[in-house]
Amino acid sequence: MKPSKYNFIFEYEKNILIYNALSGGFAIIEPEVKKALSSEKDLEEFINKEKNKKIYKELKKGKFIVDFDELKYINFIYNSLKFEKKGLGLTIAPTMNCNFACEYCYELRKKVFMDKEVKNSIVDFVKQNINEINYLSVSWYGGEPLLDLKTIKELSKEFIKLCQSNNIKYTASIVTNGYLLNSKVAKELKNLEIKTVQITIDGPKKIHDKRRPLINGKGSFETIINNIKGAKEYFEHISIRINIDKTNEGKIIELLKYLKNEGLTEENCSPYLAFVDVSTEVCRDIEINCIDIKNRSEYMIERVKEAYEEGINIIKYPTPMYSQCGAVKPNSFVIDPEGYMYKCWHEVGIKALAIGNIKGNEKNKNFDRYLKWNTFNPLNYKECKNCKFLPLCMGGCPDKTLFKYNGIQEEGCTMYKYNLEEMLKMHLKAKLKKGFLPIPVK
Ligand code: SF4
Ligand code: SF4
Repeated sequence: MKPSKYNFIFEYEKNILIYNALSGGFAIIEPEVKKALSSEKDLEEFINKEKNKKIYKELKKGKFIVDFDELKYINFIYNSLKFEKKGLGLTIAPTMNCNFACEYCYELRKKVFMDKEVKNSIVDFVKQNINEINYLSVSWYGGEPLLDLKTIKELSKEFIKLCQSNNIKYTASIVTNGYLLNSKVAKELKNLEIKTVQITIDGPKKIHDKRRPLINGKGSFETIINNIKGAKEYFEHISIRINIDKTNEGKIIELLKYLKNEGLTEENCSPYLAFVDVSTEVCRDIEINCIDIKNRSEYMIERVKEAYEEGINIIKYPTPMYSQCGAVKPNSFVIDPEGYMYKCWHEVGIKALAIGNIKGNEKNKNFDRYLKWNTFNPLNYKECKNCKFLPLCMGGCPDKTLFKYNGIQEEGCTMYKYNLEEMLKMHLKAKLKKGFLPIPVK
């Protein structure tokens, strides 16, 4: 038995706290337990004492102490999740066209819509896989997907029919700018089994309207806010994504307070902070406004604290992920309106990066690229192998590691590298207020 290498021990208001990144376990410990966790020898002495048997069990349960090779364990869980073939994940962009002209947009606003052949090929693809899977998960994406509601309706109906007749679970979500999501459309999407929605708002009205105007230059803020209010009742959850860079970083609390006053920070509707990143050559000119990893980490802590003081909880508990986005999973594909298939959302519409086309026999056209994505494993990188944050990060965004940086770079690392303790303290503070305490290991 040895102390886990993913333990983080720190003090908070005279308590000694321990967090384990492998299990996500969080506890209060006594000084003698802290000492026991400092070396294998100390641990052995501690667990050999009869009176410590109960604590020993708790420590083992929380993976604060382990009797196995932790890297092998991570590799095992990672590969089990990645190569499980029970699900098929499709991200579908019915069009690359968009009614917005956002400053930082990486997508190519092409007025291409999906034709009959592509739609039929997608349905055929699902049919070919239906006997092998237990669930089908569809994300509607774009461009702005609601510019082609007809395709969403047609394909959703086919998917639902196929899943029902084969006893397969069906889940669906949509990423939309929210401008066309009025109550009537929201109700239609609900009837098409779309349960979760992601909408971006980039600041208070003035800032948002500058950053996310319609193509005719008019603002979109008020319509989106009204739409979210009207759509809330139709979905299980609406995430409000707030994209941050140097040009709006000072306005985020103002926006959060506004959302709170409008009733958009509770129940099934919650905001979250994200950072603008350079995804493709199309938007390289916005790089100057991007915030680097260290400043992002500090920024997050400050905003989380300020928001908390305003009664808005945007604290995210650091949960081990073990898994990654669909880009590195063999059974997950992004499909553009012309049928081109990609692995990553950020590539959609850039034909040169496609792995194939859903039409005919072209699915494996760029098999080498498909393999490159699917053989990604953070344990291939010595930086990640030796990193205490590995279970929380799993090597970060594979697109950055594989193609942008060609290896691990600090900028692609998790923000927890710089703010884990502070985040946990904030989490605890919020929980204590609600009468919750981490399990005391004593
Ligand atoms: S990407 Fe960075 S933070 Fe993430 S596991 Fe690798 S070295 Fe650690
Ligand atoms: S590879 Fe990176 S950018 Fe692409 S879907 Fe995954 S996390 Fe997102």
